[in-house]
Amino acid sequence: MGKEDRFLDGKTCKELKRILGPHQLKLDWETRVCYGYDATNQLFVPHAVCFPEDTSQVSRILELASAKRIPVVPRGAGSGFTGGALPVQGGLVLSTERMNRILSISQEDLVAVVQPGVVTGVFQKVVSGMGLFYPPDPASQDFSTLGGNVAECAGGMRALKYGVTRDYVLGLEVVLPTGSIVRTGGRTVKNVVGYDLTRLMVGSEGTLGIITEITLKLIPLPEARRTVLVFFPSIKTASLAVTKIFSQGVLPSAMELVDRACLDCVAQSKPVRFPAETAAMLLVEVDGSRLSVEEQAAKVAHVCHGLGSLELQVSQDEAQAESLWSMRKAISPALARIRPHRLNEDVVVPRSLLPEAMERFSKIGEQWGVPVTAFGHAGDGNIHVNVLYDRSDPQEAQRAEKAAEAVMRATVELGGSLSGEHGIGTTKARFLSLEIHPQALELMCAIKTLLDPKGILNPGKIFPQRGKGAPA
Ligand SMILES: Cc1cc2nc3c(=O)[nH]c(=O)nc-3n(C[C@H](O)[C@H](O)[C@H](O)COP(=O)(O)OP(=O)(O)OC[C@H]3O[C@@H](n4cnc5c(N)ncnc54)[C@H](O)[C@@H]3O)c2cc1C
Repeated sequence: MGKEDRFLDGKTCKELKRILGPHQLKLDWETRVCYGYDATNQLFVPHAVCFPEDTSQVSRILELASAKRIPVVPRGAGSGFTGGALPVQGGLVLSTERMNRILSISQEDLVAVVQPGVVTGVFQKVVSGMGLFYPPDPASQDFSTLGGNVAECAGGMRALKYGVTRDYVLGLEVVLPTGSIVRTGGRTVKNVVGYDLTRLMVGSEGTLGIITEITLKLIPLPEARRTVLVFFPSIKTASLAVTKIFSQGVLPSAMELVDRACLDCVAQSKPVRFPAETAAMLLVEVDGSRLSVEEQAAKVAHVCHGLGSLELQVSQDEAQAESLWSMRKAISPALARIRPHRLNEDVVVPRSLLPEAMERFSKIGEQWGVPVTAFGHAGDGNIHVNVLYDRSDPQEAQRAEKAAEAVMRATVELGGSLSGEHGIGTTKARFLSLEIHPQALELMCAIKTLLDPKGILNPGKIFPQRGKGAPA
């Protein structure tokens, strides 16, 4: 019997169709290929793709999958950077795209209830139209889903001031791998009754349960924002500015650091202008009342001038702010001009060690002979380190792997974390033990086994596979 038959024989397909109806289960090759990739650019074709429309269907699918030991992989938009939505052992991909309704928004309670397949950016527009604010802003917000954001605990540029996805999740409805439906948390900001199962589920990368409903906290929309763009002659002064801005009592809503290599790259595809001696760019956004943003922007400018900045621009309206941010947003796609492939690490270091980290990452690139660029959320120490390479050159690809590993080791040595936003998935699993203590890892494995005794939910993720640990 082939692998395909083992997972999905005629009887199982029939049962799945009975649960889902004839149009919500796809077995054709084209659909399976389309749901077999994510932003890592890898492809694992599942045996089938299903599109449940409600919690009861999800529950019955998992009950069946559990009985027949069929791997099930939850999937939002497939924009993950670490392979979380890849069906690495085949089986069934469960897409949440038909569970995409905003169920309720309460302006009095500042709470919204949504299904997992709602696109983050769509939700943000709807609530902002009501004068409300949902701050988590992954750069993928135009296509990633709230379910995927919760499963990865997505962050973004505004995490510095407003926190990450976990800070906005008040409650969840989750279907466990056995099919049982669990509700966690509630609708209130304060709630300390029992263990915090909501936090356990947030960031669990689709390995503990399938999120079928999310209760989110909202806040009032700030009245105004100002963006300050500054160029510095060294990474060190730009990094120093980050800490000095805080010491002036300013907590920006975003603070992004970009190195010269990234700026040069953007300049190849976009008409951007910066002083020749530039080594780093800092982009700072402040928000609040109209009066307070003027005051905060003036303080930021004062700090940067004091540190010898080369040039400084302050946005006067929304259009100007967007134009200043467009340079930052153009970096990721522009990097492909240097090399077609990249290992995209999102390491975090203690803020005070940012200058040292940036220097070490750049030296690692020189040491392994591959371009290494760094940009990202300087305000919270979360830097996107991109090791660039060309897969068609196997030696360069091997050196890139070594450089990426060196970046992770350096990060842990500096007291940092392997991932601030993107999670572990498959791509970082072998490095987990660099950061997580053996006893904590054992506890995590025990929790996984308790909730998923047959190991059917998103197998092959987070935990190192046998014999695939990080080299000592
Ligand atoms: C251009 C680009 C920019 C990005 N920028 C950022 C950024 O700034 N910040 C950031 O944090 N990330 C960023 N990402 C990564 C990615 O967008 C996030 O991880 C996002 O949260 C994934 O959402 P998704 O809907 O695409 O989930 P998917 O990729 O489909 O899935 C991600 C993980 O969540 C699980 N999952 C999905 N839905 C559910 C569910 N309902 N229940 C349980 N598990 C589920 C999957 O099994 C998988 O493990 C970026 C990606 C791209 C391509």
